[in-house]
Amino acid sequence: DHPDQKFVYDFTEGNRDLKDLLGGKGANLAEMTNLGLPVPPGFTITTEACRVYLDSGEEPTALRDEVSAHLDALERHMGKKLGQTDDPLLVSVRSGAKFSMPGMMDTVLNIGLSDDSVAGLARQAGDERFAWDSYRRLIQMFGKTVLGIDGDLFEEALEEAKTAKKVAVDTDLDAADLQKLVKQFKKIVKNHAGRDFPQDAREQMDLAVTAVFDSWNGDRAKLYRRQERIPGDLGTAVNICSMVFGNLGPDSGTGVAFTRDPASGQQGVYGDYLQNAQGEDVVAGIRNTVPLAELEKIDKASYDQLMQIMETLENHYRDLCDIEFTIERGRLWMLQTRVGKRTAGAAFRIATQLVDQGLIDEAEALQRVTGAQLAQLMFPRFDEEAEVELLGRGIAASPGAAVGKAVFDSYTAIKWSRSGEKVILIRRETNPDDLDGMIAAEGILTSRGGKTSHAAVVARGMGKTCVCGAEELEVDTKRRRLSVGTTVVEEGDVVSIDGSTGKVYLGEVPVVPPPVVEYFEGRMHAGADDADELVAAVHRIMAYADRVRRLRVRANADNAEDALRARRFGAQGIGLCRTEHMFLGERREMVEKLILADTDAERTAALDQLLPLQRQDFIELFEAMDGLPVTVRLLDPPLHEFLPDITELSVRVALAESREDHNENDLRLLQAVHRLHEQNPMLGLRGVRLGLVIPGLFGMQVRAIAEAAAARKDAKGDPRAEIMIPLVGTVQELEIVRDEAEQVIAEVEAATGARLKLALGTMIELPRAALTAGQIAEAAEFFSFGTNDLTQTVWGFSRDDVEASFFTAYLEKGIFGVSPFETIDKDGVGALVRSAVAAGRATRPGLKLGVCGEHGGDPESVHFFHEVGLDYVSCSPFRIPVARLEAGRAAA
Ligand code: ADP
Ligand code: MG
Ligand code: MG
Repeated sequence: DHPDQKFVYDFTEGNRDLKDLLGGKGANLAEMTNLGLPVPPGFTITTEACRVYLDSGEEPTALRDEVSAHLDALERHMGKKLGQTDDPLLVSVRSGAKFSMPGMMDTVLNIGLSDDSVAGLARQAGDERFAWDSYRRLIQMFGKTVLGIDGDLFEEALEEAKTAKKVAVDTDLDAADLQKLVKQFKKIVKNHAGRDFPQDAREQMDLAVTAVFDSWNGDRAKLYRRQERIPGDLGTAVNICSMVFGNLGPDSGTGVAFTRDPASGQQGVYGDYLQNAQGEDVVAGIRNTVPLAELEKIDKASYDQLMQIMETLENHYRDLCDIEFTIERGRLWMLQTRVGKRTAGAAFRIATQLVDQGLIDEAEALQRVTGAQLAQLMFPRFDEEAEVELLGRGIAASPGAAVGKAVFDSYTAIKWSRSGEKVILIRRETNPDDLDGMIAAEGILTSRGGKTSHAAVVARGMGKTCVCGAEELEVDTKRRRLSVGTTVVEEGDVVSIDGSTGKVYLGEVPVVPPPVVEYFEGRMHAGADDADELVAAVHRIMAYADRVRRLRVRANADNAEDALRARRFGAQGIGLCRTEHMFLGERREMVEKLILADTDAERTAALDQLLPLQRQDFIELFEAMDGLPVTVRLLDPPLHEFLPDITELSVRVALAESREDHNENDLRLLQAVHRLHEQNPMLGLRGVRLGLVIPGLFGMQVRAIAEAAAARKDAKGDPRAEIMIPLVGTVQELEIVRDEAEQVIAEVEAATGARLKLALGTMIELPRAALTAGQIAEAAEFFSFGTNDLTQTVWGFSRDDVEASFFTAYLEKGIFGVSPFETIDKDGVGALVRSAVAAGRATRPGLKLGVCGEHGGDPESVHFFHEVGLDYVSCSPFRIPVARLEAGRAAA
């Protein structure tokens, strides 16, 4: 059925590039073997064999023979047969997918032992105790992972044996104790699996292989894959590896190590070692391990060899590696290696260290860090020096450090935050009704739910700190309190939550700005002393990124203060200045007058009042961004947003009526509110439609921009304003607005004598605009893709509503890997962007293309925008370094 397929690879046949086929563990075992490192011989069954099994329910027929052939070869090489009575070859059966995946089957060691061969092993090793220890381990692991028996049953029996003997650790049990334990373990198997522990070595091996295949579809494995967005159809490889023994006495042992510190990146000796132990003992904490450096005293030769191998591996993989090793009677064996996980800070340090060592170049260094890691380094954090009282720990769901008074319902969260209090919203779990409370809170803490719970998803979407699933915390929303043991937190008590570690503290933990932010703010320089090592590394990586990137990075900023910060963070202009913010506060009254105007004269009067204020805003903004482009978007939101709330106003009017105290203005306002009320304001009278319906509104804005530019020129500045028309759906809209704008600009130029060179362009944020981009480009000098609105209109859902309602369900069902508002939907929204780019440039080759909105600062989306050939991305000031880095990574 699969005649040409090769399902089994000897360790000597594979290499590290075959991770898809051999899994990470198998590919790296092969790589080490071929590097000449001491790896116990073995072979790998491919992920392809697993896929056939998962698809058809049957292992490919050729597999059995192929495994037999490789087993034969292994037996010949080792000079003994699997399970051979007088001198058994033992193997481990180890799962190993392309991505390491908790929740899949663990490894089974010592396969090949039986009632008969255990004696042979004892004789060969000259150690009874060792043989029985190995056998009891086999039954325990096999029983638990292959036969699915509750592991506690074995653990309890082991504990009882130790208690009966009044000893503390397993190494104090002698051969007779272990032999007794084996008997008990076999009984457990018989009682709970309904079968005897298999005595046939090959049957043990085959059952273990099938169990590894099956574990691919275990519940925890599936959940993990969904969370980490690992495809569900990859399958796992299985490694059959001849056993080496760390449990052969004090001159044996097992350990784990990193080639450098995964927390700081520092080079040195990092790891743990445990004498007379096997496999997982080191990490399982059954006995106290010693730091790896101690191995030098225990076994200098092995230690030196290990150091040598670690250097070989680092030079070969050109990266930090983690390793598993075992020493069998003074002989060192390598059992696993892979490029190791590291903290965000270590990633930056290691990347630059490797450049200095000449192991990687700058382009490669850029691939060794991510924007997400940089973002992590920029989150505010708690002062590490501070004295803290830990309340408990949950899941780090959305990073950041938040401090506030404990509140237990959304209503209180809103009420208190309105009066200027900082609050932490604490719930058992959140639901869509909590949305307003979540917005009002500094951070969110729940005692239930994981990384895809409502609280976690919504908080991440809002960029709000969140710790979820802190199960030790007893949340009592009725009595408005939280208890952990005897500690009680009442409503109003201050708590601090760390969304990067999941830790929850009682009281206020001081927050410090992280050094990387201090650096971007220009308050810290990339010096060479120790404290600044991280900053120096970030500085260098950013320089690499800036050197290679093609995309320019602009900021979304509405005022001079934000613009200046953005500039410090490296912004090369403003991609989106929202003018609606200039209509709020005290100016609301003037906007009301504008909306209520019955006559042209009234309207003109209102606009005349707004003009100088807008002009001054722009002067400040253009000054802050002198020499850099500033894209100003004309008024976008529906007018009712500038009017009072309909309910409040109705009540006010009704009360006034009852006192027979007529307020003409309020009445007119109320009428206007009713008139402007829309069922779907998002799809209503907004954007360019406002400009076309309210005479003079856009004209006033254009005049303010033009006059501000003229004023800056007069002051010897270099203003580079671009005027952007929102929500255009057809070129006709744009042409009308454009004619008016050009006339106004001409008037200002005539009046001031300045040549302004203001660019006029549009947002592409409606499907129709994207589909007719070729026509629209006739009237637009630039496009800025408004991917927030484009996502809403392409999918037909409103971000304000859906993120809290059905997105959690969609994420859980895997319909989205991630919210399309977070990462651009390449297939749908992205396809429209791509075709609009092509059509726009076909009409107007010099068309400038950018994107504004949340996606501009999202790593994956930035890569997409690079690939489709945009000129720039624009994002919030804090995301600028992330966008710069990712633009560099995309180009490198
Ligand atoms: P995991 O992926 O959980 O680390 P492994 O397959 O690496 O699982 O195995 C678990 C433990 O058993 C590790 O400590 C590993 O080093 C050890 N181990 C695996 N195979 C062998 C072997 N053939 N000889 C000795 N120890 C082994
Ligand atoms: Mg391992
Ligand atoms: Mg928009």
